[in-house]
Amino acid sequence: MTRLELVFLGTGGGRFATLTQTRRTGGIRIISDSLHMHLDPGPGALIYSLNMKLNPQKLKAVLMSHCHPDHCNDAEILVEAMTHGMTSRRGILAAPRSVLFGNEVCGPVISKYHQQTPEKIIETRPGVTFTVDDIKILATEAQHSDPDTVGYRLETRDVGAIGYSSDTEYFEGVGKSYKGVRLLLLCVMRPSGEPWKGHMTTEDAVKIVEEAGPEMVVATHFGMKMIFRGSAREAKIIEEKTGVPTLAASDGMRISMGAKIQVERAKRKQRGLGEFAESL
Ligand SMILES: [Zn+2]
Ligand SMILES: [Zn+2]
Repeated sequence: MTRLELVFLGTGGGRFATLTQTRRTGGIRIISDSLHMHLDPGPGALIYSLNMKLNPQKLKAVLMSHCHPDHCNDAEILVEAMTHGMTSRRGILAAPRSVLFGNEVCGPVISKYHQQTPEKIIETRPGVTFTVDDIKILATEAQHSDPDTVGYRLETRDVGAIGYSSDTEYFEGVGKSYKGVRLLLLCVMRPSGEPWKGHMTTEDAVKIVEEAGPEMVVATHFGMKMIFRGSAREAKIIEEKTGVPTLAASDGMRISMGAKIQVERAKRKQRGLGEFAESL
């Protein structure tokens, strides 16, 4: 593999950014020479895949971090695409217990029907590793209102590692799971000074970045308070406090990881359909 590409089919998170589609919520498509993989397919994952000409039937894996709708609403339909309309036994479905079987607070969100056809189902807990083609994936710890929530660390042989925090509050050691990654994707739902149990603020992101020491940070999964405050402004705070280049993700943005990390914003501004669409 000489290149890994990430396409942001959504950068919104939390109930009201999702319900209003102020930002899209379709998750992240990860593409290499040999695979397509989808991470956290919230509402819009299918529609925006098609909209951006990313054929969902090419998927080799669907990964989820927890059972909230902004992370898994479109999972079943992507499983249908991955299995070519449930006609061929293919692909990997990786998700924690809450998503697959349900726990005391939420789930399950993938029906028995949809769990029958993927070639492999992996129940992810912190420390579980698996591979999708030549990408080695480690489930990492997160602390969120779904107690089974995990983050992920993706290791490639040639272009380094990527970390994805999912929804988590700051806890001692969270950044250690992502030590040495080149690219760290953080779900920074809340701006500075607006903490919410189980979620990440800009201040929490600063602490995680200091622990992890990545080459670049991308803040994403913005809630309404973050959107109104200005996600680019909050990303700048992370960059200034840590010295690590930090971007606020935007819908339709692509990141290409090769020898360098290159970022391409959508040429025409992509928006969610929401009436409160950000005017940035
Ligand atoms: Zn979320
Ligand atoms: Zn959540």
